[in-house]
Amino acid sequence: MTTAETETPEDLHDFIRTAVRDDLDAGRMPTVVTRFPPEPNGYLHIGHAKSICLNFGIAQELGGRCHLRFDDTNPAKEEEEYIEAIKTDVAWLGFDWGEHLHHASDNFDQLYRWAEHLIKAGDAYVDDQSAEEIRENRGTLTEPGRASPFRERGPEENLALFRGMRAGDFADAARVLRAKIDMGSGNMNLRDPVLYRILRATHPRTGDDWCIYPTYDFAHGQSDAIEGVTHSLCTLEFEDHRPLYEWLLDHLPVPSRPRQIEFARLNLTHTVLSKRRLVELVAGGHVAGWDDPRLPTLAGLRRRGFPPEAIRDFTARIGVAKADSTVDMAFLEHCVRERLNQVADRHMAVLDPLKVVIENYPKGEREALVAINNPGDESAGTHQVPFGRELYIERADFMEDPPKKFFRLAPGREVRLRYAYFITCQEVVKDADGEVVELRCSYDPTTRGGNAPDGRKVKATLHWVSAADAIDGEVRLYDHLFARPDPGAGDDWLDHLNPESLIVLEGCKLEPALGRMAPGTTVQFERQGYFSADRDSSPALPVFNRTMGLRDGWAKIQAKQS
Ligand code: ATP
Ligand code: MG
Repeated sequence: MTTAETETPEDLHDFIRTAVRDDLDAGRMPTVVTRFPPEPNGYLHIGHAKSICLNFGIAQELGGRCHLRFDDTNPAKEEEEYIEAIKTDVAWLGFDWGEHLHHASDNFDQLYRWAEHLIKAGDAYVDDQSAEEIRENRGTLTEPGRASPFRERGPEENLALFRGMRAGDFADAARVLRAKIDMGSGNMNLRDPVLYRILRATHPRTGDDWCIYPTYDFAHGQSDAIEGVTHSLCTLEFEDHRPLYEWLLDHLPVPSRPRQIEFARLNLTHTVLSKRRLVELVAGGHVAGWDDPRLPTLAGLRRRGFPPEAIRDFTARIGVAKADSTVDMAFLEHCVRERLNQVADRHMAVLDPLKVVIENYPKGEREALVAINNPGDESAGTHQVPFGRELYIERADFMEDPPKKFFRLAPGREVRLRYAYFITCQEVVKDADGEVVELRCSYDPTTRGGNAPDGRKVKATLHWVSAADAIDGEVRLYDHLFARPDPGAGDDWLDHLNPESLIVLEGCKLEPALGRMAPGTTVQFERQGYFSADRDSSPALPVFNRTMGLRDGWAKIQAKQS
C-alpha cells in the first residue's frame, strides 16, 4: 500500500506513464489517446475512479486526450439510466471528454463488415454447436480443446449463414460466429473465441436494428483502433485476452494499432467492488439504491460527502502497479478527512440534546456571537450564532458522577461554551425515572467570546445550540457496509453485512445556518465529524449524512506500524 504524501500530477511515476512517455519519445505516435470504457450495466464505483483518473490523468499530463466510450455490446443488461449516471459521475470527478463521447455501438456496421472480412479470409466460421457444447469442447488448462464439427465450413457457406444470422433467420443462441485460431492453444482465449451471438434484445441506442451483437473481445480492440486510441489501459484480468486483442488487430484492416497495457484493479476493505455484487445489493434492497451513502459507488460517495478532489488525491497516492493488493478503507477516509479539514466550514449541531438553562442570563435576551468558519483558513470568514438563556448541549458532555478522566460538565464544574461564555453547573433536574432532563447553570458575563479576563482556565470546551433558535434535523450515521475487512468470496457474503451500517438520529438540534445548506454541502459539526446535507432535506426538516468522524483511523494504523 502506498502512503506517499500528496503528489501533484507532474510527480506521478508508474510503469504505465513510463511506457507512454517512452512511446511518445520514440515517436511511435504524435500524441497519446486513452479511453475509459465502462459497460453501462451498473453505476461506477471507486475502482472505476482509479481507471478514470489514470486514463484522463495521463492524457492531461502528456497533452493528449481521453475518450469516454460506452462498451455497450450486451443490450440484455444495459440501461439508459446507467449511461446518464456514468456521464454524471465522470464529470463530477472533474474530467471532460469534450467531443469524444463514443459508443461501441457506433461501430456496429464497421464491426459487422470486419466479421465478414474474417470469414472471407477463412479466419472465422459459423458454429452450430450449443453454448454448452462449445464450453465442453473448449478443453481445460491441461487439455486441449476439440475442434467443432463445423470448423471446416468453407467461407461461402459461413458467409451465407452469418448473413442469415444477421437477417434473423435463426433463433437466439442457435449459432455463433467464432474466430478460427487454435483449439490447442495454451491460452483459452485463443481457442476459437466467439465473436458474434444472436440475441433479440432492444439496444438503448440501436433499438431493434440488430439481432446479432459482437462480443466484448471483438468490439473492444476494434473500437480502440477506430477511435485512434494509442494506449488501451485495462485491468489485469484482460492480460490473457491481449494475444486475442493483437490477433484481431493483425487480421483486420484497422486504421490504427493501439497498445494494451494492464494494471491491478483497486480492492478496498469493508466493501465490495464487483458490479455483480453491487447490483445484488441494490436489487435485493440491502441498501436504498445506487446512491446509498454506504455504497462505494461514486454516486454513494458523493451523497455521503466525499469531495471529488479527495478521490483524485486517493487514486494518485495509491498509485498504479502490476500486482493485486487491497487498500485499507481507512486510507481513503484519511484522504477525505484531509480535504474536508481544509475546505469544510465549521458549525455546531447537537445530536443527542440535553437542555441547559442559564439562570442568571436575562430572560428574553438574545445575542449574536461570532463563530469562525475555518480555523485553518482565515479567508473562509465567520458567521453568527445566536445565544440565549436556554441551550442544548450533547448529553454525553455531562456526567453527574464523573470518573477521574472526564473533564466535561459535571455538578459544580465550570466549562467553556465555544465562542460564548464559561458556565458552571449548579443543579441537575431529573424526571420521575431519575433520568437527567435539564441542567441549571450560571454563566460568567465577563467571559464573553470564551476567555476569562482573570486568566482562569477550564478543561473543556463544549459545542451547543440555542434552544429558541435551534432547527430540528435528522442525522444519518454511517459505518462500514461490511463489519469485517473482507466480505469473502463465498456465497455467504451477504451474511456479513454490518447491521449497524446506518443509524438514524431524529430530533437533533442544529444551529440556524445549517437549515439553509444546499444538498451536497459538506460541513464540519464541531467535535463530531463531517456531515453532508442530503437531498432528502426539506425546509421543514434538514437531513445530514455523516461523511465520517474526526478520528483518523489511518493515522492510528500507521502509528502502530512504525
Ligand atoms: P466488474 O468486474 O465489477 O463487472 P468491470 O470491470 O466489468 O466491473 P467495466 O464497466 O467493464 O466494469 O469497467 C470499465 C473500466 O474500469 C475497465 O477498463 C475496467 O478495467 C476498469 N475497472 C473496473 N473495476 C476496476 C477496479 N476495481 N480498479 C480499477 N479499474 C477498474
Ligand atoms: Mg468489464
